[in-house]
Amino acid sequence: MTTRRTNPKVDAVIVGFGWAGSLMAAELSRANMNVVAIDRGPWRDTFPDTPLTADPDELRWKTRRELLAPPHDTTLTMRNTLDQTAVPQRDFGISELGGGVGGQGFQWAGMAWRFNPWDFRVRSETIQRYGMARAEDGELQLQDWGITYAELEPDYDRWEQIAGVAGQAGNLRGKLTSRGNPFEGPRSREYPTPKLKTLRMMEIFNKATSEMGLHPFTIPCANVSQAYVNPLGVTMAPCTYCGFCSSYGCGNYSKASPQTCVFPALLNNNPNFRLITNACVTRVNKAADGKSVTGVTYIDQNGSEVLQPADIICLTAFQMENVRLMLLSGISKPYDPLTSEGVVGRNFSFQTVSGADLWFEEDHINPFIGAGGLGSQIDDYNSDNFDHSSLDFIGGAGILTLSRDGTPIANANKLPPGTPRWGSGFKRAYSNYYQNYGVLFNQGTSMPIKRGYLDLDPTYKDPFGLPLLRLTYDYARNDRAMATFTMNRAIQIGKRMGASQISAFNFAEKPFTTAIGASNHTIGGAVMGADPTSSAVNSHLQSWDCHNVFVVGASAFPNNGGYNPTGTVGALALRAARAICGNYARKPGALQKG
Ligand SMILES: Cc1cc2nc3c(=O)[nH]c(=O)nc-3n(C[C@H](O)[C@H](O)[C@H](O)COP(=O)(O)OP(=O)(O)OC[C@H]3O[C@@H](n4cnc5c(N)ncnc54)[C@H](O)[C@@H]3O)c2cc1C
Ligand code: SF4
Repeated sequence: MTTRRTNPKVDAVIVGFGWAGSLMAAELSRANMNVVAIDRGPWRDTFPDTPLTADPDELRWKTRRELLAPPHDTTLTMRNTLDQTAVPQRDFGISELGGGVGGQGFQWAGMAWRFNPWDFRVRSETIQRYGMARAEDGELQLQDWGITYAELEPDYDRWEQIAGVAGQAGNLRGKLTSRGNPFEGPRSREYPTPKLKTLRMMEIFNKATSEMGLHPFTIPCANVSQAYVNPLGVTMAPCTYCGFCSSYGCGNYSKASPQTCVFPALLNNNPNFRLITNACVTRVNKAADGKSVTGVTYIDQNGSEVLQPADIICLTAFQMENVRLMLLSGISKPYDPLTSEGVVGRNFSFQTVSGADLWFEEDHINPFIGAGGLGSQIDDYNSDNFDHSSLDFIGGAGILTLSRDGTPIANANKLPPGTPRWGSGFKRAYSNYYQNYGVLFNQGTSMPIKRGYLDLDPTYKDPFGLPLLRLTYDYARNDRAMATFTMNRAIQIGKRMGASQISAFNFAEKPFTTAIGASNHTIGGAVMGADPTSSAVNSHLQSWDCHNVFVVGASAFPNNGGYNPTGTVGALALRAARAICGNYARKPGALQKG
């Protein structure tokens, strides 16, 4: 394909317009920079795509996943070990990629977490508390983030204000409040909106875990609990607990999303900002000196190749595509799993999930009332909140129960083992247990391993003829042990809750597969750190090797916490934008010495 067109040069180009991209675009254009955002998906908004006046269509949004990018357009290949041949993933599985502007943030559930302070310093803390042998077991590749929780706290705070997060503080400026999560890092102020209501399943969980001496709290979520105006001047309406939330757009303007919280401030009469849709960025163009870049190349909706010159390039195309674009563009050294040298592709991790399905006989859970992020959790077995001295692993999981969606098609699979799959037996069981099903979901930490990495596939290509991303990964022994431990805790909690039937699950007991239905919380591949030999970006998410490239998203996490990622993605995006608008704009160049 020959180059057809060159756009006028801008101050900054944003590649991908989900949470990370829209937050950065808003902050940079507020600082009077000329910004262009490019997204490969189509325009999408609450109206006309998911208005309040249209019934939530479960078949369309939740079963067929029409808000996601279809795997025949964008996928990856996968293998467990170096000696296997990777094959393309044919279903959504772990890569539920955004299929339009707003990315996944238009349809996410809304659990709005901060990571635990320990998550940012896993290596240092492990060595300090349990000794070097625990941190270096031959398989793990632990490294600190080059930033502490305290340094990120102001950005977490701004992200929560923008999203209107509903919650209850557990640790306010170092003082435990007894009503929120006592294990959370210190917060500088309360959540912007009060926590959501406690629904029946949460009541049962809260009672049982309190009686066991554990510390339940309501999950902070970006489903706002009351009318709210965010710092960008956008108004949100209170959540109605409609229960059609995760995988749907919110017609009520109650679920925080780029569309609801950021777009109005960014797109209304803003001469500094332009959005280009249906345009896939294929390369970041390096300057002749190899130490900076000059812009990006994209394919527009007519199939023409276009150059977009810019002084600053922000890759915000989600964890996977950020890494792929770095590899396709030759930015920094690709990771070699045999020597642990190189940085791009390094430390891919997932989330280690186990738990238990529960069925009750007498209670009515009323699952059709719920909100995407709503549930109760205990953090007693998360992070390093419990003593691991006599255990053979580090890390843990938040054990949570959900009150979020009673979607009738999806829940037809939530029946006790042995239930007939059709006929009168199935109908009887479904009408009985639809009301009485609950889950304990252990969202676990994931530790990076030397042989878990991303590179370009030697065989398979995308529709533009460019190599697909190849994932090589299997669970660490550490993570398997952690998942078994937390699964057993979930069984104990389920019994205490009075479930008549319990069916435990542990995704980590089998080899890792992309077809897993646990979550899409993939991380790593362009990790942040203080050392350029083991990280691709510094603590401002600036590339060590090309100072005008910022790589923003979960690609920067060196390890995964026992929480959903988006709060941390949002905070890191705001931190990177702060660095660009402040120090970098005044004096372009490396913001940190390696
Ligand atoms: C159903 C669902 C529920 C979820 N629930 C939660 C939750 O409760 N809590 C939580 O924390 N997280 C949750 N997540 C995950 C969360 O939505 C993501 O972590 C977050 O939205 C990622 O934001 P991002 O901006 O990094 O990436 P994305 O939202 O993926 O945005 C990336 C954008 O880049 C565009 N793009 C990609 N490649 C290119 C390219 N080459 N050129 C141009 N554009 C490109 C894409 O079209 C997309 O719009 C959920 C996700 C899903 C799908
Ligand atoms: S549950 Fe609340 S936030 Fe979610 S879609 Fe319904 S009204 Fe919106």
